[in-house]
Amino acid sequence: CGIVGYVGPQNALDVVLEGLRRLEYRGYDSAGVAVRVDGPDGGELAAAKKAGKLANLEKLLADEPLPESTIGIGHTRWATHGGPTDRNAHPHLSADGRVAVVHNGIIENFAALRAELEDAGIEMRSETDTEVVAHLMTAVYAGLPESPGRLAEAMRLVSGRLEGAFTLVVTHADEPDTLVASRRNSPLVVGIGDGEYFLGSDVAAFIAHTREARELGQDQVVEIDRTRGLTVTDFAGSVVEPVAYTVDWDA
Ligand code: GLU
Repeated sequence: CGIVGYVGPQNALDVVLEGLRRLEYRGYDSAGVAVRVDGPDGGELAAAKKAGKLANLEKLLADEPLPESTIGIGHTRWATHGGPTDRNAHPHLSADGRVAVVHNGIIENFAALRAELEDAGIEMRSETDTEVVAHLMTAVYAGLPESPGRLAEAMRLVSGRLEGAFTLVVTHADEPDTLVASRRNSPLVVGIGDGEYFLGSDVAAFIAHTREARELGQDQVVEIDRTRGLTVTDFAGSVVEPVAYTVDWDA
């Protein structure tokens, strides 16, 4: 129901939780976060998710804190597939724990994708339509050559296979500077700060930090990268100029 993403010098978890608080008014049944941290293997993801109010997630984080990081994603869920349980809360991680996905909307063809993944030996750990995206991203990313833009390319290829409505934000343990997002029939805005970028299902997620925003068009993918900046493409990979988002200050 609500999505937040952050790349930049602030502690990502703080920015993401604050963004989720600002989206609370929309209603939700569970909440979760994931951050990318430097580990012995170069990078790792750490996640926490909980059914119920954000306060439940915050309590879990107080008991089991997540490390400081410069990349984070967050989600408040309004369940459509699978009950409002801890397990079905987002983010959804790949089997190897190296990809984390948050999703708003409904992936209409998830059953066919799930069957394909199960045939390939992947075990689903939730009842959501969303989880297939984590597994598809892992497989597609692994098949691409190491290069800047690899995660965005994987996001484009996976997005092209999805039907329905989605705002997706994906982080990868092997990508220390990059966050990618995609949208179809569901909103996505990007906030541009000073050496930092924000993603949101709604500008309310980051308006406290920046008023400079771009709105993604239908079937577009955005890459936010700490060194290369902001790049928006269509699902085929053609670069498009993102539209400025005009904030209505009286609203
Ligand atoms: N369809 C997804 C789920 O049920 C996402 C729901 C949402 O938009 O929060 O988990």
